[in-house]
Amino acid sequence: MEIYLAETQGFCAGVALAIGIVNKALKKYGAPLYVYHEIVHNTHVVEGFRREGVIFVENINDVPECARLIFSAHGVSPSVIETAKARKLKVVDATCPLVTKVHKEAQRFSRLNCETILIGHKGHQELIGTAGCIDADLLHIIEDEKDIEALKIEPNAKVAYITQTTLSIDDTAIMIERLKKKFKNLVAPSRSDLCYATQNRQNAVKELAKVCDIIIICGSPNSSNSNRLRETGEKYWIPSYIVDSADELDVKLFKGKNKVGISSGASVPRIIVDQLVDKIKQHFPGTVVHIFENPEKNIVFALPKF
Ligand code: SF4
Repeated sequence: MEIYLAETQGFCAGVALAIGIVNKALKKYGAPLYVYHEIVHNTHVVEGFRREGVIFVENINDVPECARLIFSAHGVSPSVIETAKARKLKVVDATCPLVTKVHKEAQRFSRLNCETILIGHKGHQELIGTAGCIDADLLHIIEDEKDIEALKIEPNAKVAYITQTTLSIDDTAIMIERLKKKFKNLVAPSRSDLCYATQNRQNAVKELAKVCDIIIICGSPNSSNSNRLRETGEKYWIPSYIVDSADELDVKLFKGKNKVGISSGASVPRIIVDQLVDKIKQHFPGTVVHIFENPEKNIVFALPKF
């Protein structure tokens, strides 16, 4: 067996920042510490923090008045910020700066009175936060090409689009082309909302697909970027699977295969990938590991002061 390890692994800068903020807050203020939504979409990270006394809530009203609260990396809508203020919560914002950039764009388009098409996965935490930054009368959420047909916007209207940061690069490009055809005044964000981690990791899976006959993505089932990585492998006709931990890997999947590509979502601790590699090596003695070069190693977001 040969393992091809995409080197776009470990935490992206936004996830590292959010985890760093929770660690810093735990050290400085101790438990209990409240976090609005899962800090990042990874089971291991969330369970680890739970054991240290972090309480994850889905409703801001479940946080006791005046308690300390951290907003997750996915960002929150202005209404959540207002509720937190009204409850006198001491807030630390762990929103990824690349999501904040999208929020600012959304707010700018609403100030310009632009109909705003938000491309993303309905129900995903990041989409909910970004949608809340857009004037409700100007907001149009679309998930796929079918939704473009159903848009109720005049063809000549002032229209802008923004996207969730973790979508499929290829599918989003197709949707944007269709939007351009439908709305001749369509305005794009100043630069792509798809973040660098999404782009690098999907490109890395495309590279794996050129040489591998099976792809395993480490990631939790609710992680958008991990799911997009699995889909990227499948789009290139390589059987691709997502596993939350090495224990979930069924080695029977490797029957008839001898080149396995491994990548991981942006919120997956590196140790999960190492455990997966160890498990494969144990089952297939003599396994050789090839490592691709990491294009992301120097990207870091500084921890805020608090
Ligand atoms: S995946 Fe992208 S947007 Fe999300 S936290 Fe990482 S860098 Fe930020």
